[in-house]
Amino acid sequence: MGFKEENYQNLSTTLIKKLKQRNFEGYFCKTRTDALELALSFIPEGASVCHGGSESIKEIGLLDAVKNGNYQYLDRSLAKTPQENREIMAKGILSHTFLMGTNALTMDGELVNVDGNSNRVALLCFGPEQVIVIAGMNKVVENIDAGIYRAQNTAAPVNAIRQNLKTPCYDTGHCGHCHAEQCMCSNTVITRHSGHPGRIKVILVGESIGY
Ligand code: SF4
Repeated sequence: MGFKEENYQNLSTTLIKKLKQRNFEGYFCKTRTDALELALSFIPEGASVCHGGSESIKEIGLLDAVKNGNYQYLDRSLAKTPQENREIMAKGILSHTFLMGTNALTMDGELVNVDGNSNRVALLCFGPEQVIVIAGMNKVVENIDAGIYRAQNTAAPVNAIRQNLKTPCYDTGHCGHCHAEQCMCSNTVITRHSGHPGRIKVILVGESIGY
């Protein structure tokens, strides 16, 4: 094991204890392959599964595995109208499993997420029986302020390019605290505790994943 990987493992031990205090379940996987296997082990066959916009769940192969596996995948790409899209998103409330990444995870175990459409943070807060969060160790930050800064200055500019959004962070690579029509920052959600023990499962991955 390299020095960096060993440090990730040590740091994850600290974080998992913090997560437990918050009624989250924390796990550490050395590789994305292990993380994929662990995430799938939490999802029973036939379960309804939906997800938020996340490069992390794509990068570890979780999205493809769910789409191609024996699950009821709530596929928003099948929506032909905005109303159908809304109806599929609404079904997410009653789904078994919600998959997501996180913009940041603090050293104290809080999840920090900034969302434009806000369906992602809505389902994190309420609805699905379980939420599986895939978090590369690159998402770990010192505190909530650093997490918000990360969301708006590391993740958002890249997301703006990916989605071709007309926002200041697209143009400058840095948050301009905008109110643009396509602004990605409507709601900032700090998840500090789960009222349902184990509902939120955070899988830490000993690699840099997502952005
Ligand atoms: S410029 Fe706008 S969309 Fe981009 S990070 Fe800042 S508030 Fe969010």
